[in-house]
Amino acid sequence: MSIRASGPILSRRGLLGAAAGAALVMGTGWSHAGAVPLGDPAATIAAPPNFPADIPLAQQRFVNWAKTIEFDAVWTATARDAQDIVRLADWARIHGFRIRPRGSMHSWSPLTLEAGQNVEKVVLVDTMSQLNSVSVDPTGYPATVTADAGASIEAILSALQKEGLGWANSPAIGDISIAGALSIGAHGSTYPAAGEAVVAGQSFGSLSNLVLALTAVVWNDAAGSYELREFRRSDAEITPLLAHLGRTFVTSVTLQAGANYRVRCQSSTDVPWRELFAPPGAPGRTFESYVEQHGRVEAIWFPFTETPWLKTWSVSPEKPAESREVFGPYPYVFSDSIPEPVTDALAQVASGNQAITPAFGASQFGAVAAGLVATDTSDLWGWSKDLMFYLRATTLRVVAGGGVVVTRRENIAQVIHEFTTWLHERMTYYASLGQYPVNMPFEVRLCRIDDQSEVLTDSAGAPNLSPVRPRPDRPDWDTAIWMNVVSIPGTAGLSAFFREMEQWMADRYSGDYATFRSEWSKGWAFDNEGGYRDAGFLGGTIPAMYREGLSSDEGWDAALAAFDRNDPHRVFSNGFLDRLLP
Ligand SMILES: Cc1cc2nc3c(=O)[nH]c(=O)nc-3n(C[C@H](O)[C@H](O)[C@H](O)COP(=O)(O)OP(=O)(O)OC[C@H]3O[C@@H](n4cnc5c(N)ncnc54)[C@H](O)[C@@H]3O)c2cc1C
Repeated sequence: MSIRASGPILSRRGLLGAAAGAALVMGTGWSHAGAVPLGDPAATIAAPPNFPADIPLAQQRFVNWAKTIEFDAVWTATARDAQDIVRLADWARIHGFRIRPRGSMHSWSPLTLEAGQNVEKVVLVDTMSQLNSVSVDPTGYPATVTADAGASIEAILSALQKEGLGWANSPAIGDISIAGALSIGAHGSTYPAAGEAVVAGQSFGSLSNLVLALTAVVWNDAAGSYELREFRRSDAEITPLLAHLGRTFVTSVTLQAGANYRVRCQSSTDVPWRELFAPPGAPGRTFESYVEQHGRVEAIWFPFTETPWLKTWSVSPEKPAESREVFGPYPYVFSDSIPEPVTDALAQVASGNQAITPAFGASQFGAVAAGLVATDTSDLWGWSKDLMFYLRATTLRVVAGGGVVVTRRENIAQVIHEFTTWLHERMTYYASLGQYPVNMPFEVRLCRIDDQSEVLTDSAGAPNLSPVRPRPDRPDWDTAIWMNVVSIPGTAGLSAFFREMEQWMADRYSGDYATFRSEWSKGWAFDNEGGYRDAGFLGGTIPAMYREGLSSDEGWDAALAAFDRNDPHRVFSNGFLDRLLP
């Protein structure tokens, strides 16, 4: 299974090799080096029967972000256009195969393939190599961008920027595919400062809330075959497809956009965590006060250290004199290529010397504090995209637990204070036993829920399965607080810790106070052996996240019914999705 305490412990070379190898993925997915085309005698798996001859097919390697789901050889087709996918779906139905879309493989969770599954009857479809066009229409109201499934979000935001357009929110890494991002209801770190209104055409919620239309491959019962069908945002049938976990195949999508703006991003490393994560109303340099002032705040708190790396972004039409202008994304090179003192400590932690964890935490913090100075990145100014993208695929491949708390704006400080107090107490307790299940940081950032008033056409409603979908019974819950804890894959005790943590979060952030939802792309449903395994969480807790407070036509059950209508043969599924979305 994916995240295993008992799983392989990555060596320093393995971790850094993973990072270096990841450099190949920028832009078009993994390198095709080593691909074995259909018909080549070197092929190690049986050739799919009667495969459409003109669609390129080769055995390729599949590896997910944390390298916890790896296959040396999976038949991988390259879609040249949307019609190829219709033909593949029909072929797969007739021959008992399954089709899995493949973006940049930057997911943790088993939504594409499951670890250890039989892949002989699976064909992955690479969308990023050829199905990747982007076109912007700046003239409409709202302005829109139409992108093929395999366009990267960096390509989309770059095209928008050229037309003076942008989004409020984006994931931190740009090389993921738009369809992969939408499948999990991707989010960013943009939340409104006190009194700040959204720029028309943008959204403070998930990327899925920007979708105005999409085209998916769906079953036509009368014709007895699959076909392309366009869904508009006003169609009731679109809402399950706006965040679908890979239970459908999207070929193209149109999203709204709004006027781009300039952003200032300031970093600091001198606010003690107890001051920053103080309860509501506390004096001093609190997370709450930064949210009021800037809205956009992120804190990264390394294990057993005193002062987190705090980032604030603020809208700033003019360049402040103290800021340095940036002309492209990914300014923090020190977090994309890990400095030697950190890798030295990392190598020891990875090889099982857990007691070094506090020193490892200190070296991670030290690298950031020194890196900000050395690279002159503590006060930056530039276009919004260039400051929203701040992670490259060469960053460390860690595993992540946590999720999102949906609640009232007034509760932000309370939620974060409670979580950090809990985390500190538990990590200190385990350290007293000589155990260090967590060796990398806690991260917190915010966005808003998927507000339908931000959608500038008629909207049939919020994405059913977006983690930040609103709760109609709680109109006061406007805020989404993303909290993650990350660690090196294979760390002893990690899965049990993540299990304890997510059960605590689900229990604490409930009732009248808040609701907790898992982050689809990361780690969830932990048992003591790994993620995506706990039957009670998968079968009870998760569906309840999308049933509570929702009518039957807008949540979990309506989504599952729609997935089955669109794909009754479950061509677009895998064993894990069959269990999660029966
Ligand atoms: C370093 C890093 C930073 C990240 N930062 C953020 C962040 O800030 N915010 C955030 O929300 N997420 C973040 N993510 C998670 C990322 O958004 C998701 O993992 C996303 O799904 C990755 O897209 P992908 O192209 O790699 O898709 P893949 O990993 O290839 O696939 C993921 C899912 O998308 C489905 N899919 C892909 N293409 C299609 C298609 N055409 N039709 C239907 N389904 C499809 C797959 O079937 C699978 O279910 C981050 C990930 C990494 C590794």
